Amino acid sequence: MIWYRMVRVSAVAFTALLAACLPVAAQVAPSAGPGIPANPTRQGDTTGISKEAEIWLADLIKINTTNPPGNEQATAKYVAGVLEKEGITSEILEIAPGRSAVVARLRSAAMADPSKSLLLVAHMDVVAADKSRWTVDPFGAVIKDGYMYGRGTIDDKGMLAANLAAFIALKRANLHLTRDVIFLATADEENGGEANIKILIAKYWDKFAAGFSINEGGNVFMKNGKVMYVGVQASEKVAANIDVVARGTAGHASQPTKDNAVVHLATAVSKIGGYSAPVHLTSIVRRYFEGLAPLEDDEIGKWMRSLDTADRGEHAQKVLSGASPLWNAMLRDTIAPTMLTAGVANNVIPGEARANLNVRMLPGDTIETIVAELAKLVDDPQVKLEVKPNGGLAAPPSSLESDFYAVISKVASQEFAGAPVLPFQSTWATDSSQLRLHNVQAYGLVPFPLTDEDLKRMHGDDERIPLAAFDKGIDVLARIVAEFAVTR
Ligand SMILES: [Zn+2]
Repeated sequence: MIWYRMVRVSAVAFTALLAACLPVAAQVAPSAGPGIPANPTRQGDTTGISKEAEIWLADLIKINTTNPPGNEQATAKYVAGVLEKEGITSEILEIAPGRSAVVARLRSAAMADPSKSLLLVAHMDVVAADKSRWTVDPFGAVIKDGYMYGRGTIDDKGMLAANLAAFIALKRANLHLTRDVIFLATADEENGGEANIKILIAKYWDKFAAGFSINEGGNVFMKNGKVMYVGVQASEKVAANIDVVARGTAGHASQPTKDNAVVHLATAVSKIGGYSAPVHLTSIVRRYFEGLAPLEDDEIGKWMRSLDTADRGEHAQKVLSGASPLWNAMLRDTIAPTMLTAGVANNVIPGEARANLNVRMLPGDTIETIVAELAKLVDDPQVKLEVKPNGGLAAPPSSLESDFYAVISKVASQEFAGAPVLPFQSTWATDSSQLRLHNVQAYGLVPFPLTDEDLKRMHGDDERIPLAAFDKGIDVLARIVAEFAVTR
């Protein structure tokens, strides 16, 4: 694999880079932290640290943080222990019983300038794994055929371990930083409940206030053995849920009536399933398709270039939406029925039947508009649509002109053999939207080069990460962090 060989090359390049950023006076053996041998030749060499990070990742997988209940405190303590061995003091931030975040800081000066600080973010919780559908123990961190298997290897413990490695590599290099670098591991990202980042920010913002951040959200997309493009998340869709509630007469199933709640619900859900919201091109999605067009075959590329045209735009939207569920979801609000609840016995017609609609809105669109549209479509007085509380909040997109975006783009392109770097609007939600609402230029990039086949296992069965991709990602992330925090 191409990028496996590149690990060796770029580790050398990385060392050279850091040596180049070092003021001459600093190019002497640094004073290392407790227990860390002072060894200037190790500066920035992530080849060694990626092997250590594989052990951290395995340990992190083995701590079961299935959310709910999350139990992230155990992970927070583990991370604090790894940092302590490096002489880095961290702080465990209590959010709810058994649920904590952990934060640590490498200082650039006695007084931090939060507007310049860089925050490395990853979440510690994972989604549930159905053991019966896995070929290995989801919490065993089994290594097989060059992959590490386990719930969270991609989402998001891989990034957590990579952040830890980049942060520790910077500490070991003992370089003068031009901005504070903050490590933050969050809780309750997958469930967004009692211990999520919103609550963490409300309680502890001053502990990790930053002007820039890197988090999950974007990916390095591999195809046919090479990196096709790097998608840096700069914006995300907003999640909400709607309850579809059908009510009718409850009674004996031997004498059905026309107002059966199950039938009315099924009809409503069927109509909603066929609905397509209007296209709304955001500036980031526009840039994404412009950048992707030359990489696709001529036919698809042509339609990507036509998206915004008056005469062919509508047809282009249809072609692209039909070609990929991801593209469809980038172009419009989507509504997915996800849960059905009805009935208590085989022979009882229930008085009520419910469906959950999971809605993903483009930033700027409102749930009220969608509810009004769907109510018109369903057009049934027996069916009501109720918006569930705790929907996400739309955040402004992160700038594509910031210094940090430029560094991410430059390093990613260099590390992945000139692959294009495109801004990406994720159809999924991340902790970054809350950061953007606090004026953070937040970007998403899981730095591991992954195929669609790897990516679709996220939240699915046999989630796994190629170890070569993990090592490469650490290299890339460490360089991004070092270039931004050392030279600028
Ligand atoms: Zn995640």
